[in-house]
Amino acid sequence: MANKYVMAGVMGWPVAHSRSPIIHNHWIRQYGLQGAYGLFPVQPDKLEDAIRGLPALGLAGCNITIPHKVNAMKLMDVVDPLALRMGAINTIVVTPEGALHGFNNDGFGYIQSLRDEKPDWQANAGPATVLGAGGAARAVVLSLLDQGATEIRLINRTRAKAQALCDEFGKGIQVVDWSERHEALSGAALLINTTNQGMHGEPELDLQLDRLPVSALVSDAIYIPLETALLRNARLRGNATVNGLGMLLNQARPAFQAWFGVLPEITPALRQAILATF
Ligand code: NAP
Repeated sequence: MANKYVMAGVMGWPVAHSRSPIIHNHWIRQYGLQGAYGLFPVQPDKLEDAIRGLPALGLAGCNITIPHKVNAMKLMDVVDPLALRMGAINTIVVTPEGALHGFNNDGFGYIQSLRDEKPDWQANAGPATVLGAGGAARAVVLSLLDQGATEIRLINRTRAKAQALCDEFGKGIQVVDWSERHEALSGAALLINTTNQGMHGEPELDLQLDRLPVSALVSDAIYIPLETALLRNARLRGNATVNGLGMLLNQARPAFQAWFGVLPEITPALRQAILATF
């Protein structure tokens, strides 16, 4: 790897807002590697051409973001079993033979972000309440189950989507109606918001925390802003909180390792470099 110039990037539409180039180029510099990580704005109808071009261009691989995560999976030669269960990929690794391998590190990133905040965190410590049933929720729910969670209360505005996820992933998930979300916090050990409510440009998440134990860990997949109203309210009442930046940073680590051969660390300098862009 020492003398090889390695290139990777992120495909999305739009993709200009992505912080991934800052993360990966920071690590390339930190570890003294030869290479670069770029932004690839790829329209949905050009996705297949773009992905098929990766080996031809000699890229080590790329990240896949909205709206391509589901369709890109269908173009892989090999899909990692976990990504297959999630139904989406966020990372492509091009093998030396030019084959395309698809992975999904979002769930790993989420679990690791909890452990960074609370090293002794256990998935079976008590009920987990999950809001949302989109792509982020799939990664979160599946990884919680894989870590040993035994009671997940799944709540989505469109109940049918939560039910479909429950039917697919099965045991351990209980679907709760959106109208009962406030009550569903009772006795929870973990709360996670995977809806887009609270994200920059969206209304705040409408959730009353009164019934949530102060011992519960409260997390939000959103990282713009870093502290959503949900996290602020939780912090002010004494709950430990985890924002979405840890999920973003941690999902990048295994991808960087696959492309550049080094498992990188999340340092204060890296966090600072990201925070400077907000
Ligand atoms: P998605 O698949 O589009 O899902 C969006 C979710 O938000 C759905 O459950 C949707 O419910 C819900 N929602 C939308 N409008 C709502 C409203 N007005 N009231 C209540 N619920 C509403 O999106 P996604 O990919 O899962 O992403 C969700 C969030 O996670 C985004 O903020 C994204 O930035 C974040 N995320 C972060 C990371 C990270 O690394 N930190 C990774 C992935 C995603 P319905 O089913 O009813 O429409």
